[in-house]
Amino acid sequence: MPEKFQAVVIGGGPGGYVCAIRLAQLGFKTACIESRGSLGGTCLNIGCIPSKSLLNLSEEFHKAKNLSSKGIEIGNIKLNLSKMMKNKDKAVTILTKGVEFLLKKNKVSYFKGFGSFKTKNDISIKDKDGKESLIHADKVIIATGSEPVALPNVEFDETIIISSTGALNLDQVPKKMVVVGGGYIGLEMGSVWSRLGSEVHVVEYLDYITPGMDKEISNEFMKILKKQGITFHMQHKVENIKKNGSKAIVSTIDKSGNKKNFDCDVVLISVGRKPNTRGLNLEKIGVELDERKRIKTNKNFQTNLSNVYAIGDVIAGPMLAHKAEDEGIAVAENIAGQSGHVNYDTIPGVIYTTPEVASIGKTEEQLKEQNIKYKIGKFSFMANSRAKAIDDAEGFVKILADEKTDKVLGAHLIGPHAGELIAEIGVAMEFGASSEDIARTCHAHPTFSEAVKEAALSVDKRAIHS
Ligand code: FAD
Ligand code: NAD
Repeated sequence: MPEKFQAVVIGGGPGGYVCAIRLAQLGFKTACIESRGSLGGTCLNIGCIPSKSLLNLSEEFHKAKNLSSKGIEIGNIKLNLSKMMKNKDKAVTILTKGVEFLLKKNKVSYFKGFGSFKTKNDISIKDKDGKESLIHADKVIIATGSEPVALPNVEFDETIIISSTGALNLDQVPKKMVVVGGGYIGLEMGSVWSRLGSEVHVVEYLDYITPGMDKEISNEFMKILKKQGITFHMQHKVENIKKNGSKAIVSTIDKSGNKKNFDCDVVLISVGRKPNTRGLNLEKIGVELDERKRIKTNKNFQTNLSNVYAIGDVIAGPMLAHKAEDEGIAVAENIAGQSGHVNYDTIPGVIYTTPEVASIGKTEEQLKEQNIKYKIGKFSFMANSRAKAIDDAEGFVKILADEKTDKVLGAHLIGPHAGELIAEIGVAMEFGASSEDIARTCHAHPTFSEAVKEAALSVDKRAIHS
């Protein structure tokens, strides 16, 4: 007889493992199935964590090379890429093992293998040797995540034509790298390899980078990245990519119809990710997908089958680890009869470049489109004493507040530690705060967070330091 579980989660990424832990906390006999051989999903294994490790190490390398101008002489700075990669791998191993420990601690049964539906309650698990076992589930939560989108007729070989996974594992610094797509992955991984010495060219379909972000921030971001040495080819569409020996040729066409070829050592394709439902047998049990092949769910994360739920990258919404985690908690609480909820208006987005870019709530463009009257408060890090003291003063904070009520509607930051500073605004927005609430909150001096306070003051045109 197959072992019986009250809840089975398919996928051990930030959505799946967090959901499994919450279900176990709520008293359900829970299992989590993961095929990768290690927990933590895309995020811990080939996403957030290794990319942040390389972003940090490459930034340290870049900074070390410039220390002499600040009065610190440390001699010849050399890159040891394989050691850098080992450091990154160590961070991944520690964290994925940590998740395994957390599952054990919470008495979640961890099955290493590929999960698929036999029926809506019976899940087959195939291990890496092809051995199949069966478990029974009252409730099933699908958290199988996403995978990179390729371009038509182009295949990833992960050495010359690479996805983000290859970009996290190159064994030498490419002399020239073409990045297709100026979004999260292209700009983070482009920054890493640019700092390590590559000549980086970003080919972007649109006339701006980071679609969906506030345009003023996106323009400033591009200006700063250009200064750092990244070249942008905007409104260029990639028509074809061909390998030529150890090189690639990227053929593009711009908006005026001009064709251009880029020779490079490596081409990173970062044009988005797609939901991963492969092999789950969803057609067999009749789970409905939407027009973009994402699993269709209601506001309780329930699919059209009452015992089957889905969360994270495999459903609609931003493909972000914290969104997947929050959905994991919300669905577990809903299954337990509680009122799990995710506020999609306050999900922050952060790009971990230098400077960092962070965004929450409505952009100016969205407010205009929705005919919402707003006030803007802005404050430059150039006028922030901490930023000036450490010579890290690029960027600004922008707060958007309702013209009548002063309620904070959105905030967009580019600058030092923007990814941390955005949390304050998230809390403020969750509590329905006004910009005046932020402005009247005492912020420690000298901190970067004073720029947030000053931007809030500036909503009412009463910033002190500008
Ligand atoms: P995943 O993390 O994709 O996990 C799904 C898991 O399910 C995988 O481990 C997969 O092996 C497993 N699986 C799939 N099918 C089956 C099956 N049939 N049986 C068993 N197991 C299965 N987001 C951020 O918020 N911040 C960042 O800094 C960030 N950086 C990123 C950097 C990169 C390079 C990439 C690629 C992504 C990044 N993301 C980041 C996005 C983030 O990784 C995803 O949004 C997040 O991992 C989604 O979580 P998930 O649990 O839905 O899916
Ligand atoms: P993205 O959606 O962020 O950016 C894709 C870019 O490619 C867009 O600017 C788009 O206009 C462009 N594009 C699309 N087709 C193109 C083409 N044919 N030619 C040229 N440009 C083209 O996608 P991504 O960078 O692949 O990242 C995928 C997702 O992973 C992100 O949306 C994000 O949700 C997640 N992620 C998050 C983080 C983070 O939170 N820091 C980091 C990495 C990835």
